[in-house]
Amino acid sequence: MATPNQAYFVNTLLRWYGQHKRPLPWRDTTNPYYIWLSEVILQQTRVAQGMPYYQKFVEAYPTVQQLAAAPEDEVLRLWQGLGYYSRARNMHHTAKIVMEQYGGQFPDSFAELLKLKGVGNYTAAAIAAFAFKEQVAVLDGNVFRVLARLFGISDDIAVPASRKVFQKLADELVPADAPDTYNQAIMEFGAIQCTPVMPDCLFCPLQQSCFAFNNGMVQELPVKKKAKAARPRYFHYIVLEHEGDFYLRKRLEGDIWQGLYDFYLYESPGKNLPIETLVQELQQAGLEADSAYLQSPQKDYKHILSHQKITARFYRIRLISRLKEEVLKETRLAPFNVEEIEALPKPILINSYLKDAKILVYL
Ligand code: SF4
Repeated sequence: MATPNQAYFVNTLLRWYGQHKRPLPWRDTTNPYYIWLSEVILQQTRVAQGMPYYQKFVEAYPTVQQLAAAPEDEVLRLWQGLGYYSRARNMHHTAKIVMEQYGGQFPDSFAELLKLKGVGNYTAAAIAAFAFKEQVAVLDGNVFRVLARLFGISDDIAVPASRKVFQKLADELVPADAPDTYNQAIMEFGAIQCTPVMPDCLFCPLQQSCFAFNNGMVQELPVKKKAKAARPRYFHYIVLEHEGDFYLRKRLEGDIWQGLYDFYLYESPGKNLPIETLVQELQQAGLEADSAYLQSPQKDYKHILSHQKITARFYRIRLISRLKEEVLKETRLAPFNVEEIEALPKPILINSYLKDAKILVYL
């Protein structure tokens, strides 16, 4: 039932990190803005996927001032494809707060960073440790996993109360003289050595003192209760087109993809929708559709989010005349030409359709 001596664990981990760390651009900086950007981008995102986004953002907005001053549509467009769009909106919002309330300077302590709207425990700890060398522990999924396996902690990591147990141990482990390197090291160890599915136990320097390895519990730890099954949703998009313009609208608060643009949407309770029902719905919305003009959907588009499973169909309609002002007002639709659509922030699913339908060619 051995677990590692804490000093031995820290030293071994730091040695391992020195030999195995990946060269990542946000590790070569102590600029809190860049560190914050990288942490926001990398939440729920793999490094390989997040890297080009980090580079794009640093290039487009080299300072927090430039990010704060950017239009939201532009920020969302740059974020397109990364998912979890609320992260981009919150990031933009936080940049504005840093400008308005902190004179463009990130606070330099964990406690102060936490007061910043939109910055949670994880991000505050990461900025405090990496930019200001504060002795705080960063707790992400990698750290939970490494600690659970090495020290045999079986508290369910999906339960908020378990955080205290992990936080206490994590805080004790952070060395005063290298909080930045240590935090990078444990996250890197979780990302490339003690991975979720196939950890490299055979060549692990901590193998002898690892609780999970010595007790045959590598696959059981960390304990994480199953998330609820994703809710299926069925979207029917009406692609209204008139002389090269397409009608889209900005999605509102209170549902997924807030701030992104999509087409007129009818959501049905089941997968299949009789065409008459759809036509009726469109007529009620003032869209004088006739089933004869509806181009049948070519295929089902699937998109999986953390709690929802979307199946979408697209029905294209070529309109004989432009939509009337009152209909535009009622439906919140607006006409956009192809160049304008290219520049709009859109859900990936909409982008895929635009590409398949050859409406947008150069994506
Ligand atoms: S022995 Fe395996 S489970 Fe234990 S820390 Fe190393 S990689 Fe992780």
